Amino acid sequence: MNTNNFIRKVIKKDLNKKKYFKIKTRFAPEPNGYLHLGHAKSLYINYNIAKDFNGKCNIRFDDSNPSKIKKKYIKSIKKDIKWLGFKIDNVCYTSNYFLKIYNYAVELIKKKLAYVDELNSKEIKKYRGTLKTIGKNSPYRNRSVNDNLKLFKEMKEGKFKEGKMCLRAKINMLSPIMIMRDPILYRIKYKEHIKTGNEWCIYPMYDFSHCISDALEKITHSICTLEFMDNKNLYNWILKNITIKNKPKQYEFSRLNVEYNIMSKRYINKLINKKIIKKWDDPRILTITGLKKRGYTPFSIMDFCSRTGVTKQNNIIEMSLLENCIKNDLNKNFPRAMAIINPIKIILENIPDGYEERLIINNHPINKNMGKRKIYFNREIYIDKYDFININKNKYNHPIIGNEIRLKNAYNIIIKYIIKNKDGVIKKIICTCKHEKNQNYKYIKIIHWISVLHSIPAKFYLYKRLFNKINPLKEKKLINNINKKSLIIKNGFVEESLKTAKIGNKYQFEREGYYCLDKIDNKSNNLIFNLIINLNNKYRNKNI
Ligand code: ATP
Ligand code: MG
Repeated sequence: MNTNNFIRKVIKKDLNKKKYFKIKTRFAPEPNGYLHLGHAKSLYINYNIAKDFNGKCNIRFDDSNPSKIKKKYIKSIKKDIKWLGFKIDNVCYTSNYFLKIYNYAVELIKKKLAYVDELNSKEIKKYRGTLKTIGKNSPYRNRSVNDNLKLFKEMKEGKFKEGKMCLRAKINMLSPIMIMRDPILYRIKYKEHIKTGNEWCIYPMYDFSHCISDALEKITHSICTLEFMDNKNLYNWILKNITIKNKPKQYEFSRLNVEYNIMSKRYINKLINKKIIKKWDDPRILTITGLKKRGYTPFSIMDFCSRTGVTKQNNIIEMSLLENCIKNDLNKNFPRAMAIINPIKIILENIPDGYEERLIINNHPINKNMGKRKIYFNREIYIDKYDFININKNKYNHPIIGNEIRLKNAYNIIIKYIIKNKDGVIKKIICTCKHEKNQNYKYIKIIHWISVLHSIPAKFYLYKRLFNKINPLKEKKLINNINKKSLIIKNGFVEESLKTAKIGNKYQFEREGYYCLDKIDNKSNNLIFNLIINLNNKYRNKNI
């Protein structure tokens, strides 16, 4: 990361001027869904700034709206934060401050800066005006302080129906900044809260609770995304007008957007409701659980956050940046193995039935610390049918009858003939094996293979992008941009050494790509792998 981005510059200045002795940031998710890559970026920024300047970073669950939040989301957010590798200094909840926030609302009423309004939500919207037209004062705007205090107390006591009354700040209905046209501070909601139960039936709005929570937690730099630019006016107005010691400052950076993806929880929910994906951990979306299931590592996600920087320009990041981050990590740090995704059988006619040879091979071409493993060589082997498909085109040096090819880590074989069924589909291929050590295999195509006897059945979930358009949200209908072929399932085999593989293990399947073990099907004993990312080689590119 650019360690001198504009937020860091501000912090350095503030510390030099001794405006603060210690800085404090916060990450404040609303527990109304699972975390996504954008949240990881926000966490990364807040957490690392605090760490690098010897400060602290709070996690605060913004649980001010009981209709949207759920306990399961709090649990999953905590789990994801931990998985990403962040140590949490302090977990807070906006609901911890409900009484204090209420008292600040009373203070605003007493200062004639807030009033209880009886307009309904439609009327409030109409009175607010638009960017082109000015707003109009509510007829309830000039109630006396005493009336407002009484009504607000009665709101809290549950004397009114939902939507009947609300508390609004008294700012300026003529303001060119829409949010300053008497924003709502509190509304009535008869909804049990996951932490405070039925203690409250009025709840503060985000803009009201957020700045107060920041101030109560002594946050120094409140970092958020650009769409909160206008809200900053209200943030500062509230803190200026209540008796509170700390006055945090808000700084905005541009939201993370990634090509061919959507991230907002609202839209992910839409995809689930429309049954385009089943769950939040679908490996085709950029939720943290989705990325984890796909096979992304915390390291690669942090690397990506670091490379995308902190700016004020709205932009859309290329998917290849994210893919390169995971490739770099997987290539260096994860073992190789052999998998046959489109199996076809080869019989080596000069190798006797029952013959078995053990070959010891390296788990990684460079990192010898990853050790070695055993593979088996027998009369029958699987290879990938795409190594045969262009049988008459040797432009890519594909094997043709009489051709010599090399089985990686083993021997050269020569294709003799092909056995097809009556529909012309290749059933098996008969070859002879040059069963001798120290063969010359310069200029000979090397292919991957697995002994039939020592193979394990596997399913490969091959993922492609979920959306066809670079910026799906720009299109008229999100649903129309769905790539209907974003998941293809293949039945194949992996080498026997993977029988001890654990869920989450990642491998480079040679000549294919990087895969992560997602689950083991107990019924069929199939290992189920998710494609993380394909290798970029001639063989792969031709077979997509
Ligand atoms: P969503 O649209 O997914 O609901 P949100 O901003 O409403 O996002 P919150 O739970 O309120 O989600 O977000 C917590 C923090 O994460 C906020 O500070 C928010 O600015 C930040 N954040 C959310 N999405 C992104 C993103 N795409 N890029 C950077 N930061 C983000
Ligand atoms: Mg939100």
